[in-house]
Amino acid sequence: MKSFWQGLTHLIAPRVCRICGCTLGADEEVMCLGCLMEMPRALIHQNDFNAIHQRLGHHCQVDRAAAWFYYKRDTQYARLLIDAKYGQLPALDRQLGEMCARELQPDGFFSDIEALVPMPIHWRKRMRRGYNQAMQICRGVRQVTGIEIADVLSAAKGHGVQARHGREQRYSSISGTLALRHPERVQGRRVLFVDDIITTGASASEAVLTLASGAPASISVLCLGLTTVNN
Ligand SMILES: [Zn+2]
Repeated sequence: MKSFWQGLTHLIAPRVCRICGCTLGADEEVMCLGCLMEMPRALIHQNDFNAIHQRLGHHCQVDRAAAWFYYKRDTQYARLLIDAKYGQLPALDRQLGEMCARELQPDGFFSDIEALVPMPIHWRKRMRRGYNQAMQICRGVRQVTGIEIADVLSAAKGHGVQARHGREQRYSSISGTLALRHPERVQGRRVLFVDDIITTGASASEAVLTLASGAPASISVLCLGLTTVNN
């Protein structure tokens, strides 16, 4: 009966691939199998010192680091994350988090992680968007791994016009923008910091340094998209 209704819903409003626009099969989510196969995966999580470690810098003690795919501007794959962030589509972020986790889990990426920590957004932004995209991604990861979410970081003040700043300015404009609430929730635990996109690594490094002040056993990093150039 369920499949009959599902079929009927698809007839009325066919679900389409967010990358190529073709009609999705019953087993496909977000994108078709072909587009999923062609996604430019980063596959860097098994390197002890990868592009994320490098971007965050030596001052950040990062254990494991993973990105699902390489974020290239003006591609449909990049569009996915933009739609998920600004398009009032919290369920899309959750689905992407789930899909990413399903791929990384067999490699043991989440094996001893005890808590997922989302990148926070300022409450004004949250009011405007209605949700925090990194929290939605964490919910998707939790769905697959069962790891609890510790929403312990808070955005103390806005980042201002970060996008227009150069790399050095970005670091200084971000410094001190995050705060750690409930440090006891990270103390002595292996935590995984989660964000949607890592560009220069400035925000992620601020998050890692803020988390480190709570003395966790280790901090790992996960993002869905990793930009290919520092812009
Ligand atoms: Zn497709």
